Amino acid sequence: MQRISHWIGGQRVAGRSGRSGPVFDPATGQQTGAVDLADVGEVDEAVASAVAASRDWRRASLAKRAAVLFAFRELLHARQDDLAAVVTAEHGKVLADAAGEVARGLENVEFATGVPHLLKGGYSEQASTGVDVYSIRQPLGVVAGITPFNFPVMVPLWMCANAIACGNAFVLKPSEKDPSASLLLAELWQEAGLPDGVFTVVHGDKTAVDRLIDHPDVAALSFVGSTPVARAIYEAGTARGKRVQALGGAKNHMVVLPDADVDLAADAAVSAGYGAAGERCMAISVVVPVGAVADPLIDAIAARIGKLRVGAGTEPGTDMGPLITAEHRDRVAGYLDAGAGAGATVVVDGRQATLPASGFFLGASLVDRVEPSMSVYRDEIFGPVLSVVRRDSYDEALALVNANPFANGTAIFTRDGGAARAFQTDVEVGMVGINVPIPVPVAAYSFGGWKASLFGDTHMYGPEGLNFYTRGKVVTSRWPDPASSSVDLGFPRNR
Ligand code: NAD
Repeated sequence: MQRISHWIGGQRVAGRSGRSGPVFDPATGQQTGAVDLADVGEVDEAVASAVAASRDWRRASLAKRAAVLFAFRELLHARQDDLAAVVTAEHGKVLADAAGEVARGLENVEFATGVPHLLKGGYSEQASTGVDVYSIRQPLGVVAGITPFNFPVMVPLWMCANAIACGNAFVLKPSEKDPSASLLLAELWQEAGLPDGVFTVVHGDKTAVDRLIDHPDVAALSFVGSTPVARAIYEAGTARGKRVQALGGAKNHMVVLPDADVDLAADAAVSAGYGAAGERCMAISVVVPVGAVADPLIDAIAARIGKLRVGAGTEPGTDMGPLITAEHRDRVAGYLDAGAGAGATVVVDGRQATLPASGFFLGASLVDRVEPSMSVYRDEIFGPVLSVVRRDSYDEALALVNANPFANGTAIFTRDGGAARAFQTDVEVGMVGINVPIPVPVAAYSFGGWKASLFGDTHMYGPEGLNFYTRGKVVTSRWPDPASSSVDLGFPRNR
């Protein structure tokens, strides 16, 4: 059994709290490791090491920071298969999907290599007579990231690439369900030349997170996870005067208009609904067919589900891996009975799929005639269950999407450019796909939902990430001839 320890001051540090959490291989159901869970003292030690490292790192030149980021990018690229294997071993997603996660995380590092350009300020010569004004952006100091189980490489990279490029020290509190990838990232940062203490990993649960929120030396918190925790961390962090960006859960709708290509839409719904066993914050969980497209679309989706191979993520040819824990698998399956009991039609029941004998597996499920009052619609299920809510018109479909409290991502499938353009304007959701089911923005843009899917003012990564991890300062300067100086108590006006 592997022991998974903290990474403090550039080395593995065994936990002393006496508490640990089990880590499973979800494909076998066997426990493979135990992760140390930090107490308050261990979090303080991690933050102290980060504070010390941040003093020099904030003074490291932009050229030096960019050089480290380029080296880190090369190492990530060279070790992408190793990273993917670590993700699959503890998360369960299939290897190709894990490799995709690594690739999308790597994009954020590539963006951050541009830091010498990205942190350029503005300069106004002669803003007033003899006066120049310019702006600079400075790091915050120590910033923390608290990340979910479903993207153990990509989400930490969303945060740490920009945070470190901006001159901060970054403390990561990864998910305790699949904690090992964070340690490989730490080793690669070190190999890339990042000074010890600039990237720290402290494993833990609520105890560790609460201490990061409370700690006076942690200036900002980036969180990605479920909505109740996101809301609580946002409220607690901002009450202590910290910057907080807290991304929460999702219920992503895919509207299919009557003119859409049925095969294209069915391929997209199956890919985005069941990829990573539905454990993606940008997964499609509700399909909203408008009008007569419903029946052919449901038939096409059901036909594709029949061909999905469910199994270990390491098995070649597997489409869908297991869920993260046995409890989560059972909770997800419970929605099928709840939906049927509330009057929905279970078209495909994933419990009846051909599944491996051990491990936390559940097949893909399709539930038709779902309505907003049902728990299968209201709750974020975070599993391979696709609901269908039929609507008669575009306006009704739009109203359904806009009434949902979650607003992370959404998609519209149509051949009508005018309808798509109207949707992009009117839909109240942070990320919109037009014939794209999982519209995760490329790294040059920023990622974030609206409403209960994000608490805070800044989205994650890209330009908004740079703003989040820096403070703006504006300098007004003049070099007057002392001979022309005099006392003037009036408020300085521009001349
Ligand atoms: P989670 O909220 O249970 O855990 C996220 C992190 O918070 C983990 O590090 C965990 O240790 C910590 N945590 C859990 N409970 C806590 C508590 N009470 N107090 C303080 N910290 C706590 O989420 P999860 O199950 O790991 O991930 C799945 C969720 O994340 C889903 O809701 C999914 O939609 C969401 N998610 C959202 C996005 C997004 O970009 N909006 C991206 C990925 C995942």
